[in-house]
Amino acid sequence: MRHLFKKTFIPVLFSTLAAVPSEAQQLMGFGTEAARKELDLEATFDKHLQANNLRDWMKRMTAYPHQLGSTYGLNNALFLRDKLVSWGFEARLDTVHVLFPTPKVRILELTEPTKFKAALTEKPLKEDGTSAQTKDVLPPYHAFSANGDVTAELVFVNYGVPDDYEELARLGVDVKGKIVIAKYGGSWRGIKPKVAYEHGAIGCIIYSDPKEDGYFQGDVYPKGAFKNESGVQRGSVVDLPLAPGDPLTNGFVADAEHKRLSVEEAPAMMKIPVLPISYGDALPLLKALGGQVAPATWRGALPITYHVGPGPAKVHLKLEFNFDIVPCYNVIATLKGSEFPDQWVIRGNHHDAWVFGAADPVSGAVAELEEARALGELVKTGWKPKRTIVYCWWDGEEPGLLGSTEWVEKYQSILKEKAVVYLNSDGSGRGYLGAGGSHTLEKFVNQVGRDVTDPEKGTSVIDRLRSRTILNGSPTAKQEARARADLRIGALGSGSDYTPFIQHLGIASLNIGYGGEDAGGDYHSIFDSYDHYTRFKDGEFVYGVALAKTMGRSVLRFANADVLPFDFSNFANTVQVYASEVKKELEAARTKAEDHNKTLAEGRFEAAADPKDPFVKPTPMSVAPYLNFAPLDNALVALEQSAKAYASASAKLALLPADKLKELNEILYKTERKLIHADGLPRRPWYRHQIYAPGFYTGYGVKTLPMIREAIEQKNWKEAEEGILRVSGVLEGFVKEVERAVGVGR
Ligand SMILES: [Zn+2]
Repeated sequence: MRHLFKKTFIPVLFSTLAAVPSEAQQLMGFGTEAARKELDLEATFDKHLQANNLRDWMKRMTAYPHQLGSTYGLNNALFLRDKLVSWGFEARLDTVHVLFPTPKVRILELTEPTKFKAALTEKPLKEDGTSAQTKDVLPPYHAFSANGDVTAELVFVNYGVPDDYEELARLGVDVKGKIVIAKYGGSWRGIKPKVAYEHGAIGCIIYSDPKEDGYFQGDVYPKGAFKNESGVQRGSVVDLPLAPGDPLTNGFVADAEHKRLSVEEAPAMMKIPVLPISYGDALPLLKALGGQVAPATWRGALPITYHVGPGPAKVHLKLEFNFDIVPCYNVIATLKGSEFPDQWVIRGNHHDAWVFGAADPVSGAVAELEEARALGELVKTGWKPKRTIVYCWWDGEEPGLLGSTEWVEKYQSILKEKAVVYLNSDGSGRGYLGAGGSHTLEKFVNQVGRDVTDPEKGTSVIDRLRSRTILNGSPTAKQEARARADLRIGALGSGSDYTPFIQHLGIASLNIGYGGEDAGGDYHSIFDSYDHYTRFKDGEFVYGVALAKTMGRSVLRFANADVLPFDFSNFANTVQVYASEVKKELEAARTKAEDHNKTLAEGRFEAAADPKDPFVKPTPMSVAPYLNFAPLDNALVALEQSAKAYASASAKLALLPADKLKELNEILYKTERKLIHADGLPRRPWYRHQIYAPGFYTGYGVKTLPMIREAIEQKNWKEAEEGILRVSGVLEGFVKEVERAVGVGR
């Protein structure tokens, strides 16, 4: 399989580099001799990795609840720090103080037409060793929900995303002054109360329908991995697409000069009370709903006919929270670089959980710890990284990326100068390599994946992923997986600790994990436990070791490379794809409006009517203007040319003397900085990256070329035009840097 991969890989990549020994190019950024040494070092690194360490540490770190602000959270942070010190790292707790709301009062009851009081608790199981604990266990709730005491009729809103409210409008159902019940899925959870609030709802309940991750999918816990009737998904509902981090200090860290906002002032706080519940608690509420039968695609797997309401079901929802400022313990450990101590290779995973958090985040956190131990073993033999390696374990990720965001905001001026790359993982399991990130790193991550063997299948993890994409991918993905040298990686939106690095500061980032063969219903419930993980996820911890190999290699290559392994051709190609997507979106909007208006003009009202609501008289639609994409097209041509020039020059660049290499590398790792714009995105200045952002209405889900794409989706043509100019300008700045990099070799 490896042979097959090389066949497709080499001709495309090395067509312009005929004079260069191919062996040297097999490791981006290393010459022949250096590559050999690096591969030897990686082989030694691999030998040190032991699955049993991952198991022991997971058992230890998940023994008690360890959310932000908890006693055991601090205990884990100290455990991590002490281990790192014993392995030769300089390690410390870097503490920031953040707002962390925890529940004080939670009441949900059906008051009409029958009475029912929701249990709002998860039932312990004798098969799950930690589930009977009560001390320090946070009950199911949503962090950053508003306080509230509301009573109103209930409306079922499906996933509660904007499309669902369009459907409700067609059904003639208004949620104004009502409490909505939405099911998990279809978007990031925080979108649901936000959209409900925008439509006038006064409360929001989110439940896990068994169709999504319960008995419809497979046997429920403890017999199987899926959600049982008492399981609940906790989570944050802070307005993440607006800004992550402490909502009282967006963009800064609180100190004498920078004062916290009050909870009432904080724009990222949710404005209505919102509560997660189990399907056990949801069933009586949904059963009591009347009104129209829910559209077919809205129906879940509960044994009822799903109705939309409103009423006759009426519910009382009362929520009160402690809004405490708590210490947030980031663990930061460094190995100082021997040649370029001011170039930092940063690796991170969070250590806080909602409760026991075996999968999320401890599976990733212990793999990271084993990497650090193996690096310590290498140091013992006299090896030193050329660049400084910074290992981080973040606290407070779950409530809203609090630890990482505050850390990045605190050290932003240093990080802008020194951060070479940020390598993130979070929960990881069994199955396929999953990678997302900056497309300047796409070639790099493909090469790392080529050199890691799947523990069960014996092929490289990238080949395995390629085979699956060829088998199960979308038509485009299938075709590309066959023909394209590198597998395409996804773009990053939000949802883990890479967000502040890439989105706020423009630090090239990767997010990597294994999964796809470990489905379950444990996410953010008390059943995300050691017992659940070892029975249903990566029980032998072999994929945990594969993660350590993947990330450890990435760290080592970045720390040791002569030329930092960035590539611009795949990035150029990716932005071209994004540009043609937004053009198509605009075309589609125009065609739709024109067809509609033409039909209307011909007097064929019936044909122009909305098929879902044929009784409303159709009106003309506004037609999208022709936008001037020329500046973007020109920037894309320049980008492609500069990427080609860099690829042609790269062999020569590798031979530069040390002082020139330092200059070159600094240009290379700062190219991503050029993709951010000081003003940020419209209405959310914290998000500055102009190529990738979490969608305003998708939450974690990424929107690429966000300013242009979201303006087109919102039919804001003026802003779309401004977006085209903005992105073109940013790309021109990027191109100048790539050209400057090429120039270093002249
Ligand atoms: Zn996580």
